[in-house]
Amino acid sequence: MRDDNCIFCKIARGELPAATIYEDDEFRVILDLGPASKGHALILPKEHYRNLFDLDDELAAKAMVLAKKMINKMKDVLGCDGYNIVQNNEEVAGQTVFHFHMHLIPRYKGDNVGLVWQVGELSEADREEILNKLK
Ligand code: 5GP
Ligand code: ZN
Repeated sequence: MRDDNCIFCKIARGELPAATIYEDDEFRVILDLGPASKGHALILPKEHYRNLFDLDDELAAKAMVLAKKMINKMKDVLGCDGYNIVQNNEEVAGQTVFHFHMHLIPRYKGDNVGLVWQVGELSEADREEILNKLK
C-alpha cells in the first residue's frame, strides 16, 4: 500500500533522501527537518496509512516497541533528560503530513519545547456523559 503523492511514502521507501537513524523491513526512522529539539526523530512505517485511525493493529504495536527501543538508544547518545512521544491525528490535532508517524522528541532541562496546554476542569456533566457513553 502506497500513495504516490505522499512525501513520507517516498522517504520511507528510500526514494527521497532523509537522515535515517534506523531502518528495517517495516519502518524507517528519520531526523525531523524542523526539529523541536536536538535529535527530534520521526518513526515512519514503509506502508502508507493516513494516521492512527487506519493503522494496522500489529504495526501499531510494533511502532510503540520501536519507539521504546529508539528512545533508550538515543537517550544515551544525546544525553537528554527525558522524551516526549507525540502522534498527531488529523488537521485539527496538528497533523500536517498525512502518513502515520510518531514524533520522538528528546527533552533537555531548560529547553523551550512548548508541549503544554491550558489545564481545564472536568465538569460533573462531562464526566457523567463520557462515562455513560464510553464505559
Ligand atoms: P505532523 O505535524 O504531521 O505531526 O508532523 C510532520 C513533521 O514532519 C513536522 O515535524 C515536519 O517538520 C516534518 N517534515 C515535513 N516534511 C519533511 C521532510 O521532507 N523531511 C523530514 N525529515 N521531515 C519533514
Ligand atoms: Zn504515505
